[in-house]
Formats: sequence, C-alpha cells, structure tokens
Amino acid sequence: MKTKILVANRGEIAIRLIRAIQELSYDAVAVYETPDKDSRHIRIADEAVWLGAGPRCDYLDIAKVIKAAKRSGAAAIHPGYGFLAENPDFAKACEDEGIIFIGPSSEVITNLGNKVIARRIMAEAGIPMVPGSDNLAAGDEGVETAIAFAAKYEYPIMLKATCGGGGRGIRLIENDDQMREEIPVARAEAKSAFNDERVYLEKVVIEPKHVEVQIMADRDGNTVHLGTRDCSIQRRNQKLIEIAPSMIGDKELLNTICETAVTAAKASNYFNAGTVEFLIDKNFNYYFMEINTRVQVEHTVTEMITGIDIVRTQIKLAMGKNLSFAQEDVQMRGHAIEMRINAEDPQADFMPEGGKTVSVYRSPGGYGVRLDGFVYQGFTIPEVYDSLLVKMTVHGFSWNETVDRLRRCLQNFVITGPKTTIPFYLQIAKDADFMSGDFDTSYLDKHPDLFNYDDQANEASKLANLIAEIHHRGHNPYAA
Ligand code: ADP
Ligand code: ADP
Ligand code: MG
Repeated sequence: MKTKILVANRGEIAIRLIRAIQELSYDAVAVYETPDKDSRHIRIADEAVWLGAGPRCDYLDIAKVIKAAKRSGAAAIHPGYGFLAENPDFAKACEDEGIIFIGPSSEVITNLGNKVIARRIMAEAGIPMVPGSDNLAAGDEGVETAIAFAAKYEYPIMLKATCGGGGRGIRLIENDDQMREEIPVARAEAKSAFNDERVYLEKVVIEPKHVEVQIMADRDGNTVHLGTRDCSIQRRNQKLIEIAPSMIGDKELLNTICETAVTAAKASNYFNAGTVEFLIDKNFNYYFMEINTRVQVEHTVTEMITGIDIVRTQIKLAMGKNLSFAQEDVQMRGHAIEMRINAEDPQADFMPEGGKTVSVYRSPGGYGVRLDGFVYQGFTIPEVYDSLLVKMTVHGFSWNETVDRLRRCLQNFVITGPKTTIPFYLQIAKDADFMSGDFDTSYLDKHPDLFNYDDQANEASKLANLIAEIHHRGHNPYAA
C-alpha cells in the first residue's frame, strides 16, 4: 500500500498540495466540510474524509482532523496556509500521535507565532528591528506604558496583537486619546480573533516596502534562502499582489537581507519552509517583522524564478530527506508576478461575492503563465470561506515583459457570475507607478483612480469576444 499524506485544507492550496503529493507517488487524502462537498480538491484526491457539517469549525477541529488521518492511515499531514497551519497545538497533536507534521516543530511555531517572543529571539541574534514594547499590562498600567512609549518614539505608533496574523489585529494610533480608547478594544478583538488578548507596540515605518525572504531548512540545520519577494501592494495590511524578486536596485542590500533571513531561521532552530518578513524604509534601512511558519500563498512567484518546487521540497524534508541543493545552486531567473483573483467587488469596498455561481470560466494560458485555482464553470462559491478563487502567476525574462504578459492574461481572463478583482488588477497592470516597479505599502491609498473603471463594459467586451470565438469554432472544428 502506498504511503498516504492528508491535506488539512481546502481551495486552491489543497489542490496545489495534492498535486505535489501525487507527483511524489504518495496517495493524497482530502478532508472536507459539507459546504465544500462539490469542491475540486475532493475529486482529485485519492480518497476524501468528511469532517462534519462545518462551516469552518471542522477544518479547525484538531481532534477530527487527527482522527481522519488515523482512520485513513495517513503517515503525514500537510496543513497548507490558514486554518491549522500555524496552530502549535495541532503540530503538537501530530507529534504526540506519531504523524509527521509537514512544517516546523510545535515549539518553533509557538515561539514564532508570538511576535513579542519572535522579536526577542531575533534581537538576541543581532537582527535589526524597529523599536517595540513588551506585552502591555492589562488596565491603566498598560495604557501608561503605551503613552510613555509613544512619547519616546513619536506618533504614529502601531498597536499589534501579539499572536495576530493575516493582516488582522494591527492598528495605527495617532495620539494619546486614541491610544487610551483603542487598547481595550484591540485587546478584546485579539481575544476573540486569536484567543489571546495580548497586545504590544511598534514604532511605525512610514510608507515601507514589505520585502520577505523564502527560506528552507533541513533537520541537520542546512538552511538556504530562495531570494526575495515584494508584497507591498496591500489592502488593510493584507497582500493582494506579490512579485519576485524585489525590484530594489541595490543587489548587495537584498543579499544582506537574504543572509539575515538565514540567520533568523537558524536562531529559531527552523526546519522546513518558512518566510522571514521585513520592512524597508525610504533610506533603505531594513527591519525584521515576523516569521511565517508555513507555505505562503505567494510561494508561486519564488518557484517561477528559482525553478524549485517549494511544496515538493517541504514534503521531502518532512519525510526525512535533506536538502538536495546548496545556496550556490539556487539561481534566480527573470521576474514573476502573482495576483490573487478574489470573488470580491473592488468598487464596493471589496465586498465578498460568495454564494454566486460561476457561469463562464475561461482562463488564459501560454508561455510563462501559471494558474493555481479550484473553481470551474457551474461551481457555486461557498459563502463561508475566504474569497480567493485562483492565483495567476506570470513569469518573464524582464520586468517589462512580465507586466506585458500580466496585462494580456488579465484581458484574456473571463469569469462571470461573481464580480472579481480582475478588472481592478487590469487597472494596476496599466498604472505607470506599478509599471515602474517602485511602490510601497501606501500604493493603494495613493491611487484612488484605480477604482474608476467601467465593469459592465469590460464584461460585455469579454463576453462578445468569447461568443465570437465560440461561433468561429462552430465553423472550424479543428481550431485550437
Ligand atoms: P501579520 O501577522 O498579520 O502578517 P505583520 O506583522 O506581518 O502582520 O504586518 C502586516 C503588514 O502590516 C505589513 O506588511 C505592513 O504593511 C504593516 N505593518 C506591520 N507593522 C508595521 C510597522 N511597524 N510599520 C509600518 N507598517 C507595519
Ligand atoms: P527531486 O524530488 O526531483 O529529486 P529535489 O528534492 O532534489 O528534487 O529538489 C526539490 C526541488 O528543488 C525540485 O523542484 C528540484 O527541481 C529543485 N532542485 C533540486 N536541485 C536543484 C538545483 N541544484 N538547482 C535548482 N533547483 C534544484
Ligand atoms: Mg505578516
């Protein structure tokens, strides 16, 4: 019997993982909740286990996922990103049950999932970071500490949930009154979102670039980096578009940042794949922000420029192999851009469009184009999960060629039924600042013009093209 690996996730990442598992000649075990019963990850897996009625609670139920793994006889679990991926209790439960968790140890996840502890480890390793506070004490004492911190470092100040993630639990504070008001609110919110009410402060980096480094490490401590990604184009501290490598011209600086990431990984006894995130200010000072202990949504851009299959490598490392390549073997080629195509209406404050059925799905193809998705024509998007439908990653030799390809692909992409972020991304792909490659996390705030597009005209012209194509093909059965 083949060794089985269970995929504790859904959507595009479940499919990404299943593909890698099957390529390595393991059997993939999918899990699902009722709202996902028509999802493609169930169909392409070698077997599937129903976890419960959901929504969301069963994907997050450690005992149920472990039980599914034991019942199916899975030797390992890949958690993907989100859900249980950064839950140290889940990694611990796998360790206790003798199931291989495809990721770092529960101890590493515990340390790095806590931004205050992570900063402490990195400070000891001499890694640069913005000034920050310890966890704020509850009540007036914490508020007084915060006000003193702000007097020292000057507003604006970032108030962050210690165990936060996914761009949530981050607040920009402008003055003492706001600080007094927001600390208790932030605490309550952190408690409900992350089950941990602790918050702390960081000095704000004004209009920074978000640059992160992919790292991979084996159990013997061999640690390599796979270069940089720029994820500065964000909305509410959440990434929308990611590129590799960073467009910063100073290659020596980028190399120093990559080497710092390797030091950070070693300082935390890192194993498997991870991402070290940094902020870079206008004077090109760089500051450690956090380490994500999982595969990232945007890992595809790194795969495109390095040729290294990150998920395949993750699995092989977890199953006991060592890294088969050294730092000098990692070669970067060209540029890659990923866009997260979401079922959301950008013109209505990115309102989710879940619950709608995809009536037409026509994806672009050709040289340098990669799609990681899970929806198909006739699929009704469950309302209860995130709105990511498909990631489109394009690769090109030069930055200009890559942006040209991106624009062409967005023009070719037809999804009808739900509104999507495609027409909004097309605006970005035509924007001069984006094309120059020089942008920071304030990009969207500075470009309200990107939201001025005629969605209906876009849709109509794409559908007209599609109808013309179908009509033409009706007369020529040999057309591609
Ligand atoms: P999460 O765990 O939610 O990913 P991060 O700490 O990585 O949180 O921060 C997410 C984003 O918030 C960053 O990419 C950046 O845009 C913004 N941010 C966080 N901390 C700071 C800071 N000190 N100064 C400026 N921007 C920040
Ligand atoms: P495989 O499973 O094919 O034996 P490895 O475990 O050796 O692959 O490597 C995992 C990933 O890293 C694959 O995507 C492979 O193509 C890539 N890779 C391996 N060696 C090198 C190298 N020397 N340079 C670049 N990429 C490599
Ligand atoms: Mg982050």
